[in-house]
Amino acid sequence: MTKGTVSGVIANMVTLAVDGPVQQGEICYIETGGDKLMSEVIKVLGSDVYVQVFESTRGLRVGAPAEFTGHMLEVQLGPGMLSKNYDGLQNDLDKMEGVFLKRGQYTEPLDKEREWDFIPLAKVGDEVEGSAWLGEVEENSQKLKIMAPFQMEGKAKVKSIVPAGKYKIHDVVAVLVKEDGTEVKVDMVQHWPVKFAMTNYKEKPRPFKLLETGVRTIDTFNPIVEGGTGFIPGPFGTGKTVLQHAISKQAEADIVIIAACGERANEVVEIFTEFPELDDPHTGRKLMERTIIIANTSNMPVAAREASVYTAMTMAEYYRSMGLRVLLMADSTSRWAQALREMSNRMEELPGPDAFPMDLGALISNFYGRAGYVYLNNGEVGSITFIGTVSPAGGNLKEPVTENTKKVARCFYGLEQDRADKKRYPAVNPIDSYSKYLEYPEFADYIAKKINDKWIPKVQALKTRMQRGKEIAEQINILGDDGVPVDYHVVFWKSEIIDFVLLQQDAFDEVDAVTSLERQEAILDLVTEICETDFQFDHFEDCVAFFRKLINLCKQMNYSQFQSEQYNDFVSQIKAMLAA
Ligand code: ADP
Ligand code: MG
Repeated sequence: MTKGTVSGVIANMVTLAVDGPVQQGEICYIETGGDKLMSEVIKVLGSDVYVQVFESTRGLRVGAPAEFTGHMLEVQLGPGMLSKNYDGLQNDLDKMEGVFLKRGQYTEPLDKEREWDFIPLAKVGDEVEGSAWLGEVEENSQKLKIMAPFQMEGKAKVKSIVPAGKYKIHDVVAVLVKEDGTEVKVDMVQHWPVKFAMTNYKEKPRPFKLLETGVRTIDTFNPIVEGGTGFIPGPFGTGKTVLQHAISKQAEADIVIIAACGERANEVVEIFTEFPELDDPHTGRKLMERTIIIANTSNMPVAAREASVYTAMTMAEYYRSMGLRVLLMADSTSRWAQALREMSNRMEELPGPDAFPMDLGALISNFYGRAGYVYLNNGEVGSITFIGTVSPAGGNLKEPVTENTKKVARCFYGLEQDRADKKRYPAVNPIDSYSKYLEYPEFADYIAKKINDKWIPKVQALKTRMQRGKEIAEQINILGDDGVPVDYHVVFWKSEIIDFVLLQQDAFDEVDAVTSLERQEAILDLVTEICETDFQFDHFEDCVAFFRKLINLCKQMNYSQFQSEQYNDFVSQIKAMLAA
């Protein structure tokens, strides 16, 4: 293996003189005072190599020795990852005292001693390729596949496979013979370089299946799809965490991965304490059983922060290869981009806008591009739905991270300070937010079959009414209540109906927190009916009083159990008001 000697240190960036070949992205360890500091090659210029150290370089001297490993930054993938808390380098944080590792300390990501009930899926003589499903183990009720090595090229035959029974992750469970006669021993662990997308699938069509979240402003107004992408920009206190919890709990996903990337230390600690408390409405047990948290804080060295989103995405790809539906949430991608910026500045690269790296757009787009709905080689499907938050400084949506994210993410849920101040939760701005999936013909076909073909046109009509309501509110603001015709007030109050009844939803009310698709359909129909009713008022004050009463009844309806006696009673009262 190639060796090197430290020739310079600038914060976490270190230059080395090396005695052999080194590849871009290779991992090396630098020795200092008894510690081995993990580092990644970011630039190679002949025998000068630039590396970023994943830890503090305090005390590191010129002349310190380094050893290269010959491999990239990679993760170990296998049974035993669910419900774990890892850092961006896949250190198991639960094994640590306090939350964070000491310098030079690395932990095993997987438990080598734990036994798993393995069930073979392949038989001797079967022809298989890389990623083929050879067996199955169960972890926290999820059926995980044990697969042929991802990196295996070409076809191979199963020479032997162990019978059902208890095995550890490093036990050989199958032996494959490739066409050239070489044997491949398969255990339950895979390795994958985190910065490379896993492309072990046959096809990645445009995603089209509605991913129900139970949040009306998403499902009805700006739906996300299984394998789709979305992003949530929002200033502090506007409800990012509440929304993220709601989506994590309620979305139809098998596995939830949370990348807490470079948020403040107390926010990360909050994730570690709050997430394990969340109940899983799908299983009645704890959500954490099918969750993995990857956490780094902004007081950790930049390089480790940068790695965390890639580590999370690679784990998501691993589960997708098993035909599972993965929900990946990254909070926040801005901190990730800041890490990229700090590194590129240290390397004295020519900076792009706001000093972010020139290729920021490509990095963000490649990352979002790893999400998706895929047809696996065996005909099964798997998906990674990716939702990232961005925390733009000062709420400025024109900054490079937001702008570049906007180009690639198909859904945009803009959390708005003003709405949060008015307690209109979720504070997703109904006018600026969007879902591009509403324009996909594949999605329209899917919705037409799953619900009906009037659904999307109805939603579009309500969006137009929201826009119109906003314009009229501005006019009333300028001209005064009596300065506009009463009809204008009606139009405005119809948009308030859409807002109060459909969009606003109390995440802390047992009934209102989650709305089934069937119930969302009922709400959409009712709100549409209200909007399409012709109301005549002599005076704007009558209009205000009428709609206040109507909104009140609708809200009480929303807080009642769907189709209960109480619920039906509110619906009749509402209908009576419409008929009068
Ligand atoms: P952020 O993570 O953006 O800083 P939080 O998610 O912690 O903000 O939300 C701040 C507060 O806003 C919450 O404590 C809660 O009181 C309120 N809130 C946010 N969303 C909702 C909601 N859907 N229903 C009710 N209250 C909400
Ligand atoms: Mg928060």
